[in-house]
Amino acid sequence: MIPLEEARRFVLDRVEPTEVVEVRIDQSQGLALAEVVRSDELVPPFANSAMDGFAVRAADTSPGARLKVVATVAAGSGAEVTIATGEAARIMTGALMPDGADSVVMVEDTTVSVEPPSGEVVTIGHGVDAGHHVRPAGDDMRPGDEVLPAGTEVTPAVIGVLHTLGRRVVMVHRRPVVGVMSTGDELVEGGGPLGRGQIRDSNRPTLSALAAAAGCEVVDLGVVRDDPDAIRDALHAGVARCDAILSSGGVSMGDFDHVKAVLDEIGDMRWMQVAIRPAKPLAFGTIDSARDDPTRAGRVPVFGLPGNPVSSIVSFELFARPGLRRLMGHRSLDRPRVGARAAEPLSRRSDGKVHFARVVTAPHPDGGLEVRSAGSQGSHHTAAMATADALAVLPDGDGVSVGDAVEIILLAP
Ligand code: AMP
Ligand code: MG
Repeated sequence: MIPLEEARRFVLDRVEPTEVVEVRIDQSQGLALAEVVRSDELVPPFANSAMDGFAVRAADTSPGARLKVVATVAAGSGAEVTIATGEAARIMTGALMPDGADSVVMVEDTTVSVEPPSGEVVTIGHGVDAGHHVRPAGDDMRPGDEVLPAGTEVTPAVIGVLHTLGRRVVMVHRRPVVGVMSTGDELVEGGGPLGRGQIRDSNRPTLSALAAAAGCEVVDLGVVRDDPDAIRDALHAGVARCDAILSSGGVSMGDFDHVKAVLDEIGDMRWMQVAIRPAKPLAFGTIDSARDDPTRAGRVPVFGLPGNPVSSIVSFELFARPGLRRLMGHRSLDRPRVGARAAEPLSRRSDGKVHFARVVTAPHPDGGLEVRSAGSQGSHHTAAMATADALAVLPDGDGVSVGDAVEIILLAP
């Protein structure tokens, strides 16, 4: 068996980011920026009010000061308003600061009265300093600022910044196309009655959903029989149109586990027995795509994940997801690992492997998180996997007792 870190290194060293392309911002969510985003404008573009209230001269303010209300400035109004000593303008959040005003008193700190013949008068609750509740021009971004470094993941907030700067397109690493296939003579699709010895394929839809959630475009490569020719054809077809392939099943020690043999024959493959449980076997290789299509150069990574459904998910999390994120050009590859407390014993036996127990997290009364087992921990126990929101990392040994610290990998935000 080889340590998890060594297996991960082997995989990650063989994955290269996709090429850089220009995309519309509405197509960029989840991708990695391949440019430094700079500002060439002042943001905000003009000094404006941070509050609904009254624009004033700070020097005029003191508890009980009375100022004549000479104008109302709404957000979006380009009107030229000037206030003089002893005057105020009613102002809304985001509205342009009037000339002469240097501060804003929020509406909650004022009272307004109508006093003929002078009109509206605002009485100030307390004095303010110059700049109070004013957002200066360029307070957020200024021309020349490096706002977002290359490699930044395009999140909803990044999309907002790009729009604020007037951008319509952005340079990113191309969204990878990932082919997903299941292997196994026992597998069928759909809700019809099962024949003797048959089960329904659950790995392909699960791995497709995981790849899509990681931000990849998914291509369905179907269910492939336990036949070397069929596996070879499916891999060749996948390599011709995909940037990476996820396959499940056929990588263990059984007589019909042909995936690793075919991958070895047509690609550059390493079959690994990783010192983890579940998901010990992993066949990872690369297939030269130019072999099939000279217009496509490069090596397509193929993740031969184990067939047991829980193993295939854990293997995806530990190897394929970081690999796909590297393919996407992301810098941070892993899910967050955080400390938690065991709310119940998580026991295991010593076997030279790191165990990844499926657990459910809850807030710990003293802060942080506590975890309980999500249920049965077999690699075929899909129901417990489906209710888990984290994997507890249990190093070789006897596991942890109630109250012990345990490291967890958060699977959901
Ligand atoms: P294998 O790795 O091919 O030996 O498969 C290990 C176990 O996982 C067997 O019980 C298979 O029936 C099961 N299995 C393999 N592929 C799938 C799949 N796509 N969906 C559900 N179970 C699967
Ligand atoms: Mg099989």
